[in-house]
Amino acid sequence: MHESLLAEAIAARVRRHARSSPSDVLRVVVRGGQDGSTIAAALRLHLRIAIPELDDARLLIVHEATDRLCSRCASSFPAPRMADLLATCPSCGGAPLPITAAEEVDVQWMTSGTAG
Ligand SMILES: [Zn+2]
Repeated sequence: MHESLLAEAIAARVRRHARSSPSDVLRVVVRGGQDGSTIAAALRLHLRIAIPELDDARLLIVHEATDRLCSRCASSFPAPRMADLLATCPSCGGAPLPITAAEEVDVQWMTSGTAG
């Protein structure tokens, strides 16, 4: 994935949105991929460079758990985020098959009232 190109595309959306709602929080959701947590970290760095005015209080990058398939018994189970490589099947303890799908990135806006 080309995080710098993605960050530029997101930056263009942020600048357009910021004119009407400057206090909204940007929520970026990363799913899937071989190592989503690395992608999330790289994306955060590139977004900081591309949009210096977007501080940490207004930028939320979330790496969601992804369903994995057990290599031993073929059950499907959600792998907790940041621990994909250590995840084991809850039924038999087998290792998950590698994720083959490309990662997905969603961009959402939360109004400052719902940011929590
Ligand atoms: Zn299993």
